[in-house]
Amino acid sequence: MTTTMFEYLKKIFKSFFYPLKKKNLHAVYEDDILEFLESTGLKETLEAGKEKCFICNEPVTLESFQAIIKQEGGFVFVCNKKDCISSINE
Ligand SMILES: [Zn+2]
Repeated sequence: MTTTMFEYLKKIFKSFFYPLKKKNLHAVYEDDILEFLESTGLKETLEAGKEKCFICNEPVTLESFQAIIKQEGGFVFVCNKKDCISSINE
């Protein structure tokens, strides 16, 4: 990833990043995120294993996603791998 690309991504994340802190992931997930995922139809694609991590490009599931990022035309997911989380938290 080039520096320019990285700066660009950081900008996007700052605007649209929905952080889900690991320690309260469960609560957020149950209260808001599940409802959100259901209302957008994203729950089904997550359950079906059709979503991929925006950073590492590996499949993201309901259990392994860490963040949802809003983009033009839809949403992308970030998984809970240490490297992926640190990429978006910097
Ligand atoms: Zn990842």
